[in-house]
Amino acid sequence: MKPFAYVRARTVGEATAAHAAHPGARYLGGGTNLVDLMKLGVETPDALVDVTGLPLDEVRERPDGGLSVGATVRNSDLAAHPLVRDRYPAVSRALLSGASGQLRNAATTGGNLLQRTRCPYFQDLTKPCNKRVPGSGCGARDGVHRDHAVLGHSDLCIATHPSDLAVALAALDADVELQGPDGARTVPVAAFHRLPGDHPELDTVIRPGELITGVTLPAATAGLASTYRKVRDRASYAFALVSVAAVLDLDARGAVRHVGLAFGGLAHRPWRARHAEEALLGTAPTAADVARAVAAELAAAEPLRDNAYKVTLAQRLAEDVVGGLAGAPRP
Ligand SMILES: Cc1cc2nc3c(=O)[nH]c(=O)nc-3n(C[C@H](O)[C@H](O)[C@H](O)COP(=O)(O)OP(=O)(O)OC[C@H]3O[C@@H](n4cnc5c(N)ncnc54)[C@H](O)[C@@H]3O)c2cc1C
Ligand code: SF4
Repeated sequence: MKPFAYVRARTVGEATAAHAAHPGARYLGGGTNLVDLMKLGVETPDALVDVTGLPLDEVRERPDGGLSVGATVRNSDLAAHPLVRDRYPAVSRALLSGASGQLRNAATTGGNLLQRTRCPYFQDLTKPCNKRVPGSGCGARDGVHRDHAVLGHSDLCIATHPSDLAVALAALDADVELQGPDGARTVPVAAFHRLPGDHPELDTVIRPGELITGVTLPAATAGLASTYRKVRDRASYAFALVSVAAVLDLDARGAVRHVGLAFGGLAHRPWRARHAEEALLGTAPTAADVARAVAAELAAAEPLRDNAYKVTLAQRLAEDVVGGLAGAPRP
C-alpha cells in the first residue's frame, strides 16, 4: 500500500475542504470496500478524509412522514431502526441480506452506495479492465462472466453494481443528498448510478469532491407493502446473482395504485423496471398479468455466453415477489 495522508473531519465543511486540499483524496466511511481495494492496489488515494466523525449518524423522521438517513449511519443500525423496519421493510431486508454482521456494523450508508463492482477482473491488476484502466479492454466479456450484466451493458463493460441497499432505495423513490464544491444537490437514487456506456470508469453521477451527506426516504412510499428478495450462490455472505425490490399499493378494488420495482445483479446500476411498472399500474393483476409485465421489462436483456440463466431467474423471482405482494390470483 502506498503512503497516504489521513484527515478526520468533524464538520461537512471541514470534510469537503480537506478533500479539495488534497488532490487524489477519497472520503473514508467504514473502509470495508475502499481499504480492501487499497490493499489490492486498485485504489491508490493520496489522502483519506475520514467522514465517520461527522454529525451524519442519525435516522430522523421528517415532518412530512419520510425519513432522513445520515450518510454515516451504519448498515446494522439502519436495518434495525424501528421506523425503517416498520415503514420501509424492503430497506431493512436488503441490508440484512448483504455481507456479514461484522461488515454491516462497520459499513455506512454513503459508502454502501459508492462501493465498487465485484467484477474479479477489476480487482486483479494483472488483468485488462476498462473500469480500472480506461482503454485497457474488458477481461470479462470473453472471460468468466457468469455473474455479469444482462441489461444495459456496453461493449466496454459488463459489470454489475453490487449494493443491495441501492436496489431497495431505487424502488422506494429515495433521494441521495450531496454536498460539494458547488453546494448541495439532490439526486434520485434511481438516477444516481450510471450505465457503463463509453465511460465505465464512472459508476455514478457524483461530481469530483462531492460528499454524500445522506439519503431521504419519501413519505409517498412510507408504510406501503414492500420487500426485497435476493438469489445468491450461498445462503449468506454472497453478492446477488439476481435480486428484486418491490413496493406496491393497491386500492380497495385490488387495482395497483402505486408500484416500484427494481432489479439488482442484472446491470451496472439498480435496474428500475419502468416498463413492468407501467404495465401493472391501474390493473388488478392476475399472476399471468404480472408474468407478462415482467417479461416486457426483461425483453431488453442481452445475455452473454454464460449468464442467460439470470433472465429466467429474474423473471421467476419478480413474478413471485410482485405476485406475492399483490396477492395475485392464479388464472
Ligand atoms: C466479504 C464482503 C461481502 C460483502 N457482501 C455484500 C453484499 O452482499 N451486499 C452488499 O450490498 N454489500 C456487500 N459488501 C460490501 C459492503 O456492503 C461495502 O463494502 C460497504 O457497504 C461499503 O461501506 P463503507 O462505509 O465501508 O465504505 P468505504 O469502503 O469506506 O467506501 C466505499 C466508497 O465510498 C466512498 N465514500 C464513503 N463514504 C462516502 C460519503 N459519505 N460520501 C462520498 N463518498 C463516500 C469512498 O471514498 C469509497 O470510494 C460486502 C463486502 C465484503 C468485504
Ligand atoms: S466488466 Fe467492467 S469491471 Fe469487469 S473487466 Fe470488464 S470493464 Fe472491467
